[in-house]
Amino acid sequence: MCIFCSIGSGEIPSEFLFESPNVVAFNDLNPQAPTHILVIPRAHFENAAELATAAPETMAELFEAAASIASTRELDGYRIVFNTGASAGQSVFHAHLHLLAGRAFAWPPG
Ligand code: 5GP
Ligand code: ZN
Repeated sequence: MCIFCSIGSGEIPSEFLFESPNVVAFNDLNPQAPTHILVIPRAHFENAAELATAAPETMAELFEAAASIASTRELDGYRIVFNTGASAGQSVFHAHLHLLAGRAFAWPPG
């Protein structure tokens, strides 16, 4: 069973920072910045490309949720990341948006 499917369905109790019929957001277990939130579709899609193709409205909702969280928290700049494929650092194969903030970010990314 996919861990993010279990979180999205509520089977694994989690504190949701944003919740809608299609999307939930929660803190990353292993934060890489003072703010590190994951925004996911409740439905299973393997990666961002699959999500964008199969459910573009839900992909838009992920970005809307991230913007809403950033606005509510008055984040002073933030970075959004979708790791796609193991070689790019994807370790959970259920599409998820990383919302990172609260420190300076290098460019180009590591
Ligand atoms: P990826 O490496 O696939 O881009 O990101 C997966 C992210 O999910 C990682 O940042 C990791 O810390 C986080 N993660 C993995 N398992 C869990 C979990 O059970 N709960 C939460 N909150 N985060 C998780
Ligand atoms: Zn899943």
